[in-house]
Amino acid sequence: AKRNGRQRSVFYEAGLGDAAPERPDPAADLAAALDRGELTVAYQPLVDLRAGRAIGAEALVRWQHPVDGNRPPDTFIPLAEETGLIMEIGEFVLRDACWQAARWVQSSSDPTDLLVTVNLSARQVTDARTVEAVRAALADTGLEPHRLVLEITETVLMQDRDAAAANLNRLKALGVRIAIDDFGTGYSSLAYLCRFPLDMLKIAREFVDGLGRDANADVVTRAIVDLAGALGLRTVAEGVETGEQQQQLAELGCDLAQGYLFSRPVDAEKIMALIAGSDAE
Ligand code: C2E
Ligand code: CA
Ligand code: CA
Repeated sequence: AKRNGRQRSVFYEAGLGDAAPERPDPAADLAAALDRGELTVAYQPLVDLRAGRAIGAEALVRWQHPVDGNRPPDTFIPLAEETGLIMEIGEFVLRDACWQAARWVQSSSDPTDLLVTVNLSARQVTDARTVEAVRAALADTGLEPHRLVLEITETVLMQDRDAAAANLNRLKALGVRIAIDDFGTGYSSLAYLCRFPLDMLKIAREFVDGLGRDANADVVTRAIVDLAGALGLRTVAEGVETGEQQQQLAELGCDLAQGYLFSRPVDAEKIMALIAGSDAE
C-alpha cells in the first residue's frame, strides 16, 4: 500500500512527530480514519417493483468523523481517488458488502434474487489488483459471485477504455455483474453498451426526478427502460422519492428502484431487518 508507515516513521524518527505544527493534511487524515475504523458502510435497499420487496442494497461508504460528524463521500472519495487510497477504501467496502450479503442469503427463506451493489471508482476499474480483491472477497465470505453487482459510471468507462474493458472481462469471468451508474449523465457514447459486458443500467436521479413533471424526462426514462430491455439488461431507478414516480416506473417496466421513498441508506443491522422483514411478507 502506498500509505504505508514508511513516510510516517521517517517523520517520527526525525523526532518531529508530536512537535510538528498542526498542518492540515487531508490525505493523512483519511488514511488515519480508515485505520481508526471511522469509515463504515451504509446500505440503501433495492426494491423489486413487481414483487414490492427489498431484494438487496447498494453499499455506500460513510465517514463518521469524531469532530465533524458525518462527512459525505463526495467530500473524500475524490481525494481517495487522487492519492490511491481508494484501493484500500474500496476493498474495505467490498468486503463489508460481500459479508453482509452473505448474511442476508443465510437468513432469507427465498434468497433467489438477493444481490448487493458496490461502487467502483475510476482507479479501481483500471487497476488489475481489483480483480484479485473481488475474487478474494467472494472466496472469504462465501458470497456467490452472481449476487455481487459492481457499479461503474459511464465516464469512467470512457476514460481508459482498453484497461477498463480488460478488467471488466476478467471480473465478468469471476461471475459478478456489472451496472452502469447514473446512466445518461456522463460523457457517454452509447457504443460502450456494445463494447462492455454489462448487466444493469441505473437510471440517474435527474430523469426520475422529472417523471410526471417534465415530458422529456418521461420520454427519456421510457427510452432507457426499453433500450435496456432490448439489450437484456435490468434497470434500476435511482432517487425515487414519491409514490407517483414509483408507480410510473413500475408501469414503464423498470425492474428495481431505490430512493428515500423506500429508505435512506441505513446501517448493516437495519438493512438486515429490512431485507429479512421484506422476505417474510
Ligand atoms: P451514487 O453511487 O449515485 O449513490 C447514490 C447517492 O444518492 C447516495 O449518496 C444516496 O444516499 C443518494 N440518494 C439515494 N436515494 C436518494 C433520493 O431519493 N434522493 C436523493 N436526493 N438522494 C438519494 P451518497 O451516499 O452521499 O453517495 C454519493 C456518491 O459518492 C455516490 O453516488 C457515489 O458516487 C460515491 N460513493 C459512495 N460510496 C462509495 C464507495 O464505496 N466507493 C466509491 N468509489 N464511491 C462511493
Ligand atoms: Ca452508485
Ligand atoms: Ca448513482
